[in-house]
Amino acid sequence: MSDDPTKELFGIRGYRERYGVNDRFPERGRAEDEVLAELREMAVAEDNFWQTGRCSGSLYRGNMEHYGFLNRAAALYSHVNALQRDICPSATRFESEIIAMTLDMMHGSAVDGEPCGAVTTGGTDSIMSAVLAHRERARRRSDSRSHQMILPLTAHPAFEKAAHLFGIDVIAAPVDEHTTLVDVDFVREHITPDTILLVGSAGNYPYGTIDPIEQLSDLAVEHDIGLHVDGCLGGFILPWGEALGYEIPTFDFRLPGVTSISADTHKYGYGLKGTSVVLYRDKELREGQYFVSEMWKGGKYFSPGLAGSRPVGLLAATWASMVSLGREGYLELARAIFETSFAMQAEVAKHDALRMMGDPTFCFSFTSDEFDIYHVNDAMRPKGWRFNGQQYPNAIHMCVTGPQTQPGVVDDFGRDLAEAVAYAHSKAGEPAKSSAIYGGMPDESAEAQEFLRQTLVRLIDRMHDL
Ligand SMILES: *Cc1c(COP(=O)(O)O)cnc(C)c1O
Repeated sequence: MSDDPTKELFGIRGYRERYGVNDRFPERGRAEDEVLAELREMAVAEDNFWQTGRCSGSLYRGNMEHYGFLNRAAALYSHVNALQRDICPSATRFESEIIAMTLDMMHGSAVDGEPCGAVTTGGTDSIMSAVLAHRERARRRSDSRSHQMILPLTAHPAFEKAAHLFGIDVIAAPVDEHTTLVDVDFVREHITPDTILLVGSAGNYPYGTIDPIEQLSDLAVEHDIGLHVDGCLGGFILPWGEALGYEIPTFDFRLPGVTSISADTHKYGYGLKGTSVVLYRDKELREGQYFVSEMWKGGKYFSPGLAGSRPVGLLAATWASMVSLGREGYLELARAIFETSFAMQAEVAKHDALRMMGDPTFCFSFTSDEFDIYHVNDAMRPKGWRFNGQQYPNAIHMCVTGPQTQPGVVDDFGRDLAEAVAYAHSKAGEPAKSSAIYGGMPDESAEAQEFLRQTLVRLIDRMHDL
């Protein structure tokens, strides 16, 4: 191991030896066949990793025929820009229908006015757009420039990023240690005249659990403030779970306080990476994410969201995913995912030393009160399992997707988990290997925090360096 522990993680590893390095602009072009062969080699090797079904989240449909179909749809439009809408009315068709289908799934019909939405470049974009829209609404309503929002500690960092960019103060609301759900009393007590937005997740990324959205909705109505429901992860699977009869609390526009919802088409919408939907209860709110400039020499400029140019290819692929599967297709895929997740959760429940975080469905996280759960991670990793890590307390999660529903994966999980738990018992009291990267820092001194920040900055550097 070198003295820089981040070196191994995102380096281009074997590729340097295998293919050489483009450390400057190549003088001469290469044959297209050769370029494609090289791309294929890397892609196939990397796909082999998750196709085992041992990788949490990330590859939601996980089926190469489906991806092939989406790629054919995208290829027809991937050179076209959705910002130049006059030459591609198809983009208007794709975008408006994606929004309409997503609104239908989220019970937009329960809204009196004109519920609406936008297609964005991903979950972070959807969340930032919604936060901006709520800030703009607050600015229209009052001259105050002091704004605050209340975030559960399980809410995605995209909210913090939006607050950072748009000048909004964040109040972090604690979550219950056992249920993992936001402390609604805390939220109630921290609403001030500056509060513009409450946030709840359905479900949250760490534990997959669903915040008490109904109670948050009551608070939002009572104080006439916004409530964003982050369905980036769960938005395209929980509604099908409800239809299948699983116990899913209501979290969508049926609740009168819900003013916006994000749902990622590039997760359980089974689209290609790079799209998400943000929905609004009314058009006045959506207008806050629009941008208009009149002074530019380049002409009157407007963009519907944070991005400028957007690829029509991704809109086409997202639309193709939704209409090719239909309600029936999504229900069938959801059924397999819910069944697989509950079967995997049953394997976790076989071990007294393991404790499930809250009451999850398709995505579950577990910890241990007897040993550092990262010992389990340490033992599972060499067997090809890739979980996602949580901190405060240390826990690991499996977000169940298409690849886990293949025959044999649940059995392998049960067998490997039993071995990993035995290993963890044998290491109890010792520090785990993976905790430094995934877990919390043992000591929260200013120096430790600074060291952590520097380590993370170096990690990000690694993603850009040769
Ligand atoms: C993935 C995710 C996001 C952010 O989405 P990106 O597409 O990564 O920008 C937000 N919230 C939750 C709960 C998520 O799982």
